[in-house]
Amino acid sequence: MNILAVSPRQRIYPAIIRASLFTNSDSKMFDFNQICVVLVNTSHPGNIGATARAMKNMGLSKLTLVQPEDFPSGVAVGRAVSAVDILDNARVVSSLQEAVERCGLVIGASARSRNIPWPMVSPEQCGEKAVAEATVNKVALVFGREDAGLNNEELQLCHFHVQIPADPNYSSLNLSAAVMVVCYEVRKAALALDERPAVAEDEHWDQEKANSEQVEHFYVHLERVMTAIKFHDPENPRQLMPRMRRLFSRIRIDVMEMNILRGILSNIEYRLDSEKKLKAQLEGNESDEEPQQ
Ligand code: SAH
Repeated sequence: MNILAVSPRQRIYPAIIRASLFTNSDSKMFDFNQICVVLVNTSHPGNIGATARAMKNMGLSKLTLVQPEDFPSGVAVGRAVSAVDILDNARVVSSLQEAVERCGLVIGASARSRNIPWPMVSPEQCGEKAVAEATVNKVALVFGREDAGLNNEELQLCHFHVQIPADPNYSSLNLSAAVMVVCYEVRKAALALDERPAVAEDEHWDQEKANSEQVEHFYVHLERVMTAIKFHDPENPRQLMPRMRRLFSRIRIDVMEMNILRGILSNIEYRLDSEKKLKAQLEGNESDEEPQQ
């Protein structure tokens, strides 16, 4: 049932309450399959099951597991209760990069702030951004290990970090509780769509946003060229690549812009290569010359 098709009496309730009071159906305008939850290196299978349950409660169903320590597992099935279908359909991959490569927006949940500050969103903003973006692109919501969270490299694969403003004296939630908070915000934003359609940042853009896989190829290319021109020293990298990643994830570059930058990098490589060949040729000519008597 479309929750817009409600009586005037029902309309006095905000969308989120109305939806839960008067219908069993989901937001009609929103495709929850566009958003996937990614759990990185989870050690306790019970948390995977509880995550599946939280997701299903909130209308999400796409779960990706990056190198889970113990999966499939009877414990996970027990904790999932009626959300076993989510476990059955879970995708298991070997890296976070692989998990998010098709996504246009990646948001990582982290209880701690890091050395290099990253664009940060509240859970509510996370829900709104995820839902708006999901109208045009796939979105990943990423959660870390129970003992150590997400490492810096993983956090740098994300466009934004979401921090649940828990009590500073004990700010680390159980993994599945953190998933529940974030998925609840996604649900709230999705139900609000029925009232006020979300506008994705790039809905009126002339080009698609580059996905994570394309952007990763760009970083490899950029690093190679910066090394070749001796701007970057991989032996002493400092924070150059994380800063480059932060710059480009803030911009959310589109496919055309990415192709232009890749073209510039390829041109630099071509010039360096021509210069090297020319130098080698000149050196060869010099050594061919007869020594002067
Ligand atoms: N001890 C770890 C926390 C692990 S909790 C640490 O210090 O980083 C497991 C995961 O749940 C985290 O990686 C994060 O994705 C999520 N999480 C827990 N508490 C959170 C919070 N307050 N805000 C955002 N995410 C949180």
